[in-house]
Parts: sequence; C-alpha cells; structure tokens
Amino acid sequence: NRQFRLARRPKGLPERDDFDLVTEPLAEAKDGEVRVAIDYISLDPAMRGWMNAGKSYIKPVGIGEVMRAGAAGTVIDSKHPDFAAGDKVSGNLGVQTHAVFPGDELRKVDTSLADLPVYLGALGMPGMTAYFGTLDVGQLAEGDVVLVSAASGAVGALVGQIAKKKGASRVVGIAGGPEKCRYVVDELGFDGVIDYKNEEINDAVRRECPDGIDLYFDNVGGEILDAALANLRLHARVAICGAISQYNVTGNVGDTGYAPRNYLSLLINRARMEGFIVFDFADRYPEAAREMAAWLSAGELKHREDIVEGFDTFPDTLLKLFTGENFGKLVLAVER
Ligand code: NDP
Repeated sequence: NRQFRLARRPKGLPERDDFDLVTEPLAEAKDGEVRVAIDYISLDPAMRGWMNAGKSYIKPVGIGEVMRAGAAGTVIDSKHPDFAAGDKVSGNLGVQTHAVFPGDELRKVDTSLADLPVYLGALGMPGMTAYFGTLDVGQLAEGDVVLVSAASGAVGALVGQIAKKKGASRVVGIAGGPEKCRYVVDELGFDGVIDYKNEEINDAVRRECPDGIDLYFDNVGGEILDAALANLRLHARVAICGAISQYNVTGNVGDTGYAPRNYLSLLINRARMEGFIVFDFADRYPEAAREMAAWLSAGELKHREDIVEGFDTFPDTLLKLFTGENFGKLVLAVER
C-alpha cells in the first residue's frame, strides 16, 4: 500500500516536501472492515484547509497521518455483511492506493448509472454541495438572477444547471479564460459568462446582471465577492461555499487575507450572507442524490471530470486547483 502522509504544514501553496510517500504492507480486514483497492482519488480545494493547524469545521490532518481525501474503489475482500469482493464503493479513504476501512463508513455505488469517478463529482460531495448550497442555503426562488464563481468547476457547473432547472430567470458564470467561458455557455447552458482573467470584474458583473443579483454562489472570495456584493438586489442571498482565492494566503486571515469592502450592501438591500458546510446536510444526501441521478440519467445534467493518471503525481496535481489548470472535477487515477 502506497500512501501520501502529511510531513509538515504547508506555507502558501503546498510543495512536494510537505508530503512523505510511504509504502507499507496492507493489513488484513478485521470484523466490520473492508479492504478496498482505490481506483480514483478526489482532489478538492478543501484539502488545503485540512493541512492547516487550528480550529476549523473538521480536525486538521495530523503530521504523519495519511492525507485525508474522498476516494472510490473496488472491494478486495470484506468482513462486513453488506460488502463483497468486486463491489464498487466510495468513502473518505485518503490519498493511498489501498485502504482497510470500516464498512459502516463506506457507500456502495451503482456503476451502471454512472462511471466511478462521477461519484466523486456530480453524484458525490461536490454534487451535494451544489444542490444544498443553491436550494437550501441560497433559497433559490423562481425568477432569480444567479451569479456563480468557479463556474466551470466541479461545484459551480452544477450550481448553474440546478438553478436553471429550479426556475432561475438568468444564470451567469464567472470563469478564467476563453475555453472555460465557452464551455459554461455552450455546454452548460448558462445565459452569460464573465472571464475574470481578461475582464474588469466590476464592469462585467454590471453588464451581465444589469438589474442586480438575487443569489450569488461564492466559490472564490476576494475581489470577485466584492463585485457581487456591490450588485445585490433587495433580499439577495450570498451563499459562502468557498474562497479558493484565499486558501494559500500566508499569515493570518485578516493580516493578509482579503476582507470584503462592500458588506454594507447587505444592510442596504436587507440581504443575507451565509456560509455552509456540505456535511451538515448528510442526513438529506439520499434526497439530493435521487434527484441528481434522475437528471443525470435523463441526460439533463452535464458533468465533466478531469482525470489525471498517476498516484505519485498527487502533490503536483493538487496544485492544478489553485492555478485553474483543472477543467472539471479533478480526480487522480491510481494506476494498476
Ligand atoms: P473547482 O473544480 O471549481 O476547481 C477550482 C477552480 O477554482 C479552478 O479551476 C479555478 O477556476 C478557480 N480558482 C482557482 N483560484 C482562483 C482564484 N484565485 N480566483 C478565482 N478563481 C480561482 O473546485 P470545486 O468545485 O471542488 O470547489 C469549488 C469551491 O467550493 C472551493 O472554494 C471549495 O473549497 C468549495 N467547496 C465547499 C464545500 C462546502 O461544504 N462548503 C464543499 C465542496 C467544495 P478558473 O480557471 O475559472 O479560475
């Protein structure tokens, strides 16, 4: 079993030496456990936060521990009554090629409905994030104008599509570069797009949302959040899903992190800004998964996975999220 263990806490962007690549024999499964050969590892922006010390919504990965990650794979053998060799499963299996894992914490997945990597994207954690972030936290209402950042990414691409399905009158995405922007409009069916790398963000938000924004789904924070705040409508909602532009900022947030300037727009517009963590909706995942799966099998929900081959590339591949080199849900494929 090969594993990436956290060797030290990164400063700024993670580096190769922040991890140790360790090889050790795979233990036998004890009662209630399942042995899994991991096929795909989910690479998520949140992993950067899990490497930091300090209080957060989840405890930090300890130094010397296997790096935390969602993953999907194939059961090798099982001492849990619900699993048998050959079953396809997903769970919090970590950045390793194999896992010995409690069966109670594994989920069986149906690969006749969608390929295994999709269970790390549209039918997995990012899908749940988009669904509950838009509908519950964002309180999407019929006729809303919706703006979403990181719009070509795992979460953002789904937010826009879900919003359209649930009655938004106009959905605008923000993405970096012409290729991603074309995809957002031509493939995902958004009504408008902003290329934040090549346009002045404030002018572009005003152009695309001339009557203001009812729901801003924020994946990036920073100046883009500020531009959205400046253009809210009465009773708007701002769903704080993530702030990827801030995750590699060094120093304490507040010292060097970006603080929004336009928050008084919340007061003027009697608007609401609310952060959320997808895990809080865990007891309702089945409800969302059913609806997402139905759309998916009807061909009504576009999804795109960016699959990078090679377990050993993990530290470099993770960085793609922060440079925008990933195009779709970033997944690491474990070679066999
Ligand atoms: P994506 O697939 O969207 O990949 C990240 C994208 O972020 C990049 O492709 C890039 O797109 C964009 N990006 C990177 N740096 C910047 C920057 N400085 N400014 C603007 N955009 C940038 O990732 P996910 O869909 O997995 O995650 C999106 C967000 O959702 C993250 O903030 C993540 O932490 C959050 N999240 C939150 C959850 C929760 O429970 N609250 C759960 C899951 C995700 P581009 O090329 O367009 O710049």
